[in-house]
Amino acid sequence: MSTHQRNAQPLSQSPADDQHRPGSVTDRLVEANERYAAQFTDPGMDARPVLNVAVVACMDARIDLHKALGLELGDCHTIRNAGGVVTDDVIRSLTISQRALGTRSVVLIHHTGCGLLNLTENFRHELELEVGQRPSWAVEAFPDLDQDVRQSMERVRTSPFLLHTDDVRGFVFDVKTGLLREIDPENPSES
Ligand SMILES: [Zn+2]
Repeated sequence: MSTHQRNAQPLSQSPADDQHRPGSVTDRLVEANERYAAQFTDPGMDARPVLNVAVVACMDARIDLHKALGLELGDCHTIRNAGGVVTDDVIRSLTISQRALGTRSVVLIHHTGCGLLNLTENFRHELELEVGQRPSWAVEAFPDLDQDVRQSMERVRTSPFLLHTDDVRGFVFDVKTGLLREIDPENPSES
């Protein structure tokens, strides 16, 4: 999008307001940021999360983690990926979160209607056939939400790199009700 287009009309209030304007979505985000920065004052926060907690969640667009959990700016570390899966890279972030930035608790959040419920590792083979290269990463698709939350809790609890593994809890967020349902790490039949 050109500078001319950007200056041609007043800035709207949010990216959602100007779906019909020319220009890429990123242009709209950058414009929204200019408005944000114009009102921003430095809260003078430390990088260490106030609540000493790290939240690992799916990247799903329907989950507003801060609102859903009553979190404020500066309260937590947020680590998100497809599925909220505990991959090596999530362990990397959690390790830095705990060892360098003082977090102690880990909250894991999967959710109903997750895109990974419909995928299988076949996705990886199809990719390989299409592009001629096998990805080094696993798709980490899962057919059973609760079981995958258990698996994720287990990966965190058994990681040798983490300092604190005594407060690790896992949940399924219902995108229809906004409610969290806690998963019992020990009891696969309970749910
Ligand atoms: Zn998801």
